[in-house]
Amino acid sequence: MKRCNPIVAIDGPVGAGKSTTAREVAKRLGFLFVDTGAMYRAVTLDVLEHDVDPADGDRVEEIAARSRVELRLSPEGQRTYLNGVDVTGRIRDRDVTNAVSEVSARKAVRDRMTELQRKLGEHGGVVMEGRDIGTVVFPDAEWKIYLDASVETRARRRYEELKGKNVAVSFEELVSEIRERDRANTERAIAPLRKAPDAVYLDSTNLSFNEQVDAIIAIVGEQRNGW
Ligand code: C5P
Repeated sequence: MKRCNPIVAIDGPVGAGKSTTAREVAKRLGFLFVDTGAMYRAVTLDVLEHDVDPADGDRVEEIAARSRVELRLSPEGQRTYLNGVDVTGRIRDRDVTNAVSEVSARKAVRDRMTELQRKLGEHGGVVMEGRDIGTVVFPDAEWKIYLDASVETRARRRYEELKGKNVAVSFEELVSEIRERDRANTERAIAPLRKAPDAVYLDSTNLSFNEQVDAIIAIVGEQRNGW
């Protein structure tokens, strides 16, 4: 069945600026923004709150089967709910960040999230951001962008963000955390992070935030694919 509206899929590694960029692109297009990382983070928080080891695959899958993850719109933007509780801020904490790659590598977790994401995008009119949107969730998306940046640039952006939140962390620590998450995301067996063959590669290393948004809007404008 043809969708009523198109889908913009934005994938790429941690810290490439996908969320902030995708949110602004969605605003400019009048589309809904869907941050799929927030959904994996919410399941991970559920695992941690049950005191389950993220490496315990069976228990992780048991919890994921029952987790109720919802994205709700509010005047301040998208909020993430876990089992009815707003966890938007909590899912950005480092314990969740450090466990999310392991939890999101489980097949049952991915199947469940993929199903939810397809439901959210079934009518189109969404900018969906993640790791496998253009390859697995919506391989038929009208527009696919793979947003990348050097490890150092990504660590610097994350460092500035954490500093702004008064979180003490060293730049070197962030570089090694990002390298580790890149490794986990690209080497996992199911839905590894990779550029879809038909995605446009955008390197944001030397781009400002506004330039990144303009570049994506230009890609969408150039390739309207009949919409
Ligand atoms: O985008 P964000 O960094 O918040 O995503 C958190 C983690 O969730 C990623 O490091 C990745 O392990 C996982 N993820 C995923 N597939 C997606 C989105 C996120 O595996 N589509």
